[in-house]
Amino acid sequence: MNTTASTPRPAAAQNIQRYDAVIIGAGIGGLYQLYRLREAGLNVLAIDAGTGVGGTWYWNRYPGARVDSPSHVYQYWFSEELNNAWNWSERFPAQPETEQYLNFVADRFALRKDIQFSTRVLSCDFDEHRERWQVRTDKGITLDAKYLISCAGTLSTPLKNLFEGEDSFKGEVYHTARWPKQPVDFTGKRVGVVGTGATGIQVIQTIAPQVQALTVFQRTAPYTIPMRNQRYTDADRATLKSRFHEIKQQVRNSFVGFDFDFTYGSYHDASPQDRREILEMLWDDGSLALWAGSYGEIFTDEGVNKEVSAFVRQKMAERIKDPALIKQLVPTDYGFGTRRVPLDTGYLETFLRPNVSIVDIKAAPIERIVENGVQTADGNIHELDVLILATGFDASTGALTQIDIRGRAKQLLRDEWAQDLRTTLGLMVHKFPNLFLTAAPLSPGAALCNAPTCLQHQVEWITDCIQFLENNQRNTIEPTLEQQDHWVAHHDEAASTSLLAKTRSWYTGANVDGKPKRLLAYAGGVNVYREHCDAVAAQAYADFRIN
Ligand code: NAP
Repeated sequence: MNTTASTPRPAAAQNIQRYDAVIIGAGIGGLYQLYRLREAGLNVLAIDAGTGVGGTWYWNRYPGARVDSPSHVYQYWFSEELNNAWNWSERFPAQPETEQYLNFVADRFALRKDIQFSTRVLSCDFDEHRERWQVRTDKGITLDAKYLISCAGTLSTPLKNLFEGEDSFKGEVYHTARWPKQPVDFTGKRVGVVGTGATGIQVIQTIAPQVQALTVFQRTAPYTIPMRNQRYTDADRATLKSRFHEIKQQVRNSFVGFDFDFTYGSYHDASPQDRREILEMLWDDGSLALWAGSYGEIFTDEGVNKEVSAFVRQKMAERIKDPALIKQLVPTDYGFGTRRVPLDTGYLETFLRPNVSIVDIKAAPIERIVENGVQTADGNIHELDVLILATGFDASTGALTQIDIRGRAKQLLRDEWAQDLRTTLGLMVHKFPNLFLTAAPLSPGAALCNAPTCLQHQVEWITDCIQFLENNQRNTIEPTLEQQDHWVAHHDEAASTSLLAKTRSWYTGANVDGKPKRLLAYAGGVNVYREHCDAVAAQAYADFRIN
């Protein structure tokens, strides 16, 4: 514990602040980690580049941003009082409400006083002699801490400079993950959106009625399920609150951290009629249950995936009817659920509007941005006043590889991960003692989990581990090479059965040039992952090197 607060320091060290633990990020994970470590009696500081809390829900304030996990599972579970004090207005709340929730949590637990906002971490060096981390920030302050915990987010580093000539554009350019706090006025403007992932879909369906003309640049058509949102009544909220403990258990023990799971048995064992009824029921539910709460074989069995894909394609085609549009908007070149499935609100129907057009940038890729718009490989210039980039993120690794993180022998994490994406349980990395990760590669939280479920689980594991070290007066913990090899092999074995690993998407790092290819998320299931983590803790971290 930090006992140096009253110790006089030499002048040269005045810009050094000592903590037991430094947390990078004040989003869902960072806020909870701060709360837990503070409760455990540690002196903790969280750092965030934003001016407020929220992480993803602070930065992604683009028009139409909305969570597609139901609010009753996209929340904290550590306090039933908190759960009772907060009232969600609807099943799938828009960004401002989730941001408000996280602010409410920060205020209720007085977290803000231990967060330094508007601050970027530049480098983190492990001092092998002192066995402490030195965290340098862009505010000229160095933080000296025994433990360093990354809660920097999996989808927090937007892809930049994808297109030549971006600076030459005379209009306005926005990346969805760096959206301004002031609303953007689209009236009378020709707007282009690049990207049709979960983000692009939300922007497109939201701004289409506001703009003069909307041009959608699409490389890969998404499978999409119509979101069935609903306003919650007091009675709905009371029912959900009364199920607090039940839902908490469900999310912890399901495959992807939701309150649904693969409970319908094997697709092969069901009759065609039963399968159809289940798929229809889950389609009507308007949630991600059709994807991650129907038949597990969707992820592993090409035959099953083909049949379910055909079901979804038919449903999508029924929505748009126009054969030319069906050809453009209904995917045929990969299977349903092998990339992240979004929920939409009138997205497909948006393309029936006269002011919306679609440009196939698989056939004619974007060549460059020019001063008056976007030039494609067929020589066309698509004239625009506003360009919106919904082009995604350097997921799971980007937030950490942009910081100089040096472990033993000054080894850079960025260099390690440029060769191969390896972690131990997605929680620690060999040669980086006392560095704890959340939502990192090789854990479900990297991509295959309802984010709050996995973040809370990892924060709890990290807190227990730190308490173990403190209670036993130990200085460091670090996975051995052998232990890391073992987890990587287990991860790869789980990935080898998954169709996700065979499909091009951000799930495999394929959206970032030069990123080593490996399924980012552990595909064995949130429930199974939890068992692995619990076993490690139950054995007093015996496989780790502890000093
Ligand atoms: P994304 O899924 O990576 O989609 C990026 C889009 O940009 C894709 O359509 C991609 O095409 C396109 N793109 C990227 N680089 C391109 C290039 N050089 N040229 C042309 N097109 C390019 O990113 P996202 O939509 O921001 O979503 C990321 C994740 O955030 C989601 O999968 C989801 O997990 C999360 N999210 C959640 C919600 C929610 O809960 N409602 C909302 C938004 C996002 P290709 O597909 O061909 O690569």
